[in-house]
Amino acid sequence: MQSNILSKLSTAVKPTILRKSNHADCGFLFSIVNRRYASGDSVDLVVIGSGPGGYVAAIKAAQLGLNTVCVEKNATLGGTCLNVGCIPSKALLNNSHYYHMAHSGELNSRGVEVENVKLNLEALMKTKTNAVSALTGGIAHLFKSNKVTLANGHGKIKDPNTVSVLKEDGSSEDIKTKNILIATGSEVTPFPGIDIDEETVVSSTGALKLSKVPEKMIVIGAGVIGLELGSVWSRLGSKVTAVEFMPSIGGLGIDGEVSKQFQRILTKQGLSFKLGTKVISANKSGGQIFVDVENAKDSSKKETLECDVLLVSVGRRPYTQNLGLEENSIERDAKGRIPVNSRFQTVIPNIFAIGDCIHGPMLAHKAEDEGIVCVEGITGAPVHIDYNCVPSVIYTHPEVAWVGKTEEDLKNEGVDYKIGKFPFAANSRAKTNNDTDGFIKVLGDKVTDKLLGCHLIGPGVGEIVNEAVLAMEYGASCEDIARVCHAHPTCSEALREANLAAYFGKAINFG
Ligand SMILES: Cc1cc2nc3c(=O)[nH]c(=O)nc-3n(C[C@H](O)[C@H](O)[C@H](O)COP(=O)(O)OP(=O)(O)OC[C@H]3O[C@@H](n4cnc5c(N)ncnc54)[C@H](O)[C@@H]3O)c2cc1C
Repeated sequence: MQSNILSKLSTAVKPTILRKSNHADCGFLFSIVNRRYASGDSVDLVVIGSGPGGYVAAIKAAQLGLNTVCVEKNATLGGTCLNVGCIPSKALLNNSHYYHMAHSGELNSRGVEVENVKLNLEALMKTKTNAVSALTGGIAHLFKSNKVTLANGHGKIKDPNTVSVLKEDGSSEDIKTKNILIATGSEVTPFPGIDIDEETVVSSTGALKLSKVPEKMIVIGAGVIGLELGSVWSRLGSKVTAVEFMPSIGGLGIDGEVSKQFQRILTKQGLSFKLGTKVISANKSGGQIFVDVENAKDSSKKETLECDVLLVSVGRRPYTQNLGLEENSIERDAKGRIPVNSRFQTVIPNIFAIGDCIHGPMLAHKAEDEGIVCVEGITGAPVHIDYNCVPSVIYTHPEVAWVGKTEEDLKNEGVDYKIGKFPFAANSRAKTNNDTDGFIKVLGDKVTDKLLGCHLIGPGVGEIVNEAVLAMEYGASCEDIARVCHAHPTCSEALREANLAAYFGKAINFG
């Protein structure tokens, strides 16, 4: 059968691509020599899903000379991240911060006098929508310029060499392929017994597009997404309470000391927390939502909380519905993830999986990196990701970020470590900007001085953490970082000072 999709594929001779890995430990050359594709041939790779994992993998594959098709069931490209995740949430966080600065009198106190500050929620939402449209449209452009063929529809693995694409009009089309890459991402984890209507009982998706500011909002789950979206609505005027089963906020991987400081700062900003508290049920009545909670350790301590919007933010789970996994004997693990080996191969060697639908943190940059090395692996290159060097960021104000080991990890592993800490209150740029909440804490190996982990809370630390990631990727010592000249005055000088404190015992500007 001559498929429409295949007929769109380039028949041009692909250029020779010669690439040298710049990883010192895998100096490796590979080449893909002139391949000729004719319409109707099997393609090299079908990527299912166009989130940050899938679209990046598809572009990289095409750049490496693979004849690539990306299948996407949604009308827009970019997956969770661009449509209902990273991008819209950061647009709202940024602009709600500006509003809060103006409305709370913070700007006035800095000598920028503004009066009658009003919220135009519709306009604020529009800036978010514009950012999303620009970026999702950008992927379509990148597909075109990199000669990735887009197939709109639901992709299903028919057999290890065929992906069937079910289109909106009910028709379907089979694409023959040498390799398949599953990048189908994740979906909101439901809360048993609580139905999400995306209007008053919302998931993160609904919380990104509320049409008015709730008077009272309850957030179930004080993890990254709950805290980011809780912050947005709190800044816009809502009385926000986060109910969390765990005794601390920030989710998995956050340093205990950072978490405590973070909670203090957010409480000062107006958010309330009920930690160690279990949500039992939620019921709507008279336009309000009544949320029954109890103490996680003592079920006799019960309480009913009231709100007009309930945000359910208890995590995400892999999305692999109607993908043809069972038919192809690809089993999921207990968490619904697709098991893969270190080259991202499933039990069927030419079917690969990456991103939120496999193990590891559900993060866009993790999905992207996996997409890149996975397709490099398909072309014969070595495949390696150091998951210890995947950073995490919470984009509140101040931001929270971390990479590498926590103190708890190092204790459990019996590693002898040292700590270097530097508060933003002693950093000249943070002081100049009157934005001094937070600190940077680095963990170094006591014997070798190697940087093992970095935990940050403070202004712009979502950017500063990347410097720590780079250092860790290259196996830097705390002294290495402390000896690197940093521009002055910058907040990243606090990272240098924390490393100085770790290797030398003392910072210059503190203690
Ligand atoms: C509110 C929110 C904020 C977030 N903020 C951040 C952040 O700041 N930083 C960060 O790193 N991460 C963030 N994340 C997480 C991030 O969005 C995900 O980790 C990331 O999108 C995962 O990428 P992915 O490519 O694996 O999957 P997804 O982005 O979920 O993409 C999967 C794609 O596959 C498509 N698909 C699924 N099945 C099929 C099929 N059978 N056929 C065709 N298409 C299919 C889907 O329609 C979707 O487009 C956030 C998430 C949320 C919800």
